[in-house]
Amino acid sequence: MVKILWNDRIINEEDVKIGFEDRGYQFGDGVYEVIKIYNGDVFTATEHIDRLYESADKIQLVIPYTKDVLHKMLYELIELNEVKNGQIYLQVTRGTSPRQHNFPTPAVESVLTAYTKETNRPLSQLQTGVKACFVEDMRWLRCDIKSLNLLGNVLAKQEAVSKDCFEAILHRGEVITEGSSSNMYGIKNGVLYTHPANNLILNGITRRVIFACCEEIGMPVVEEAFTKQQALEMDEFIMSSTSAEVMPIVSIDDQMIGSGTRGQWTEKLQQAFEKKIPVSVGI
Ligand code: PMP
Repeated sequence: MVKILWNDRIINEEDVKIGFEDRGYQFGDGVYEVIKIYNGDVFTATEHIDRLYESADKIQLVIPYTKDVLHKMLYELIELNEVKNGQIYLQVTRGTSPRQHNFPTPAVESVLTAYTKETNRPLSQLQTGVKACFVEDMRWLRCDIKSLNLLGNVLAKQEAVSKDCFEAILHRGEVITEGSSSNMYGIKNGVLYTHPANNLILNGITRRVIFACCEEIGMPVVEEAFTKQQALEMDEFIMSSTSAEVMPIVSIDDQMIGSGTRGQWTEKLQQAFEKKIPVSVGI
C-alpha cells in the first residue's frame, strides 16, 4: 500500500482528504519541490528543503513544521514506501477556506502532501542527447519562486512535445531564460554560460551542483544571459533538472548544435556529476 505524507502524518493513499476549496487546487496558491532518491538516499535534501521554505517565505506562506521535522518525515516516507531509485513530490498549499482571492481571514493551516514514486534515470538520453525548441516565455516575473502556478510551463512543454522535442527553451524576446522545467546552459570555447539566478529563472539545485562540477573540471562559469542566435552558435548545449540531470541538447528547432552529438565538456560534466550521486550504474 502506497503511503502519503499528509501534513505531519504518514497514511495510506486512500485516507488522504483534500478539500475542493484547497487554495492549491483553486489558485495554484502554494509551493513545491521534486527531490531525487538514489539508492534509497535523498539527494541534496537540505538544498531542496531550504528552497521550499524560501519559496514559501516569498509568498508569505507559513510551513508549520521545522525543516528538521520535514527532513525526518521525508526519510520515513521513503523507508515505508521502500523506494530505492525514484523521486519525492512535495507540495504545500495555503490551506482550505471559502474561496476568495486574498489570503484566508482568519489564517488557516497550510496543507502539505508528499508522495514517492520509483523512476529510472534517463540513461540512454544522457548519452544520445535530446532535441529542444524555442518557445516564448510567457510566465510571470517571479520565476524564482517554485510556485504551483505552472500554466506557462505546462503550455511551453506541451508545445515542445507536440514538436517531438524533449524540452522547450524559453526566451523573453531574444534572451534565453531557462527551460519549461529545467535550466539551460551553452558551452563555447570551454566556458559555460547560463542566465543569472534572478527573478526570471528558478535557481535549480542541479544548477548549483553543476557549478561545483565546473569548478572541479576547470570550466569557467559565466552567469550572463545569451540570445537565441548565440544559443545556436554554442559548441555544446545542456539542460539540467532533478530528473533530467545533466542532459545534452543536440539540436534546437532542428538546427544541430556543434557536432549534433554529446560534446566533450558535457561528458566531463556528467562524469563529475555522476561522482556526486550514490549510484551503482553509471552512464
Ligand atoms: N527551472 C524550472 C522552471 C523548473 O521547473 C526546474 C525543475 N524543478 C528547474 C529549473 C530545475 O531545478 P532543479 O535542478 O532544482 O530540479
